[in-house]
Amino acid sequence: MSADCIFCKIVTGTIPSTQIYADDDVVVFKDINPLAPVHFLIVPREHIESLASCDASHQALLGKMLLLAPKLAKEQGLAGFRTMINTGREGGQEVFHIHVHVFGGGTTLPKT
Ligand code: 5GP
Ligand code: ZN
Repeated sequence: MSADCIFCKIVTGTIPSTQIYADDDVVVFKDINPLAPVHFLIVPREHIESLASCDASHQALLGKMLLLAPKLAKEQGLAGFRTMINTGREGGQEVFHIHVHVFGGGTTLPKT
């Protein structure tokens, strides 16, 4: 838990979110500013800054997060989807608590 991290606050319920899944390791909620008709974020309860701060001890957690993507995408009615992990400011990361974006729905997503 990091005191001024917005995703830590969402994970603990201090800040509300539209949750679609939660277990002991991860919380999944809808992105407040969706890029597609369905857009959710898979977020670990543990405060990890980014993919670049992960090591071998995070292997199982990262695998679990990735495997949740197709399961939850299907539950949300998506036939296909895009995953995205922005890493570091130059990688477009704005919230420094690792998360996997999953989005899709509507028309085919553009390549860029
Ligand atoms: P990043 O650029 O760090 O990969 O993505 C951060 C994402 O978090 C953005 O898509 C942004 O819309 C979303 N986001 C930021 N603040 C909040 C919030 O308070 N609630 C929710 N549900 N999403 C948020
Ligand atoms: Zn955090």
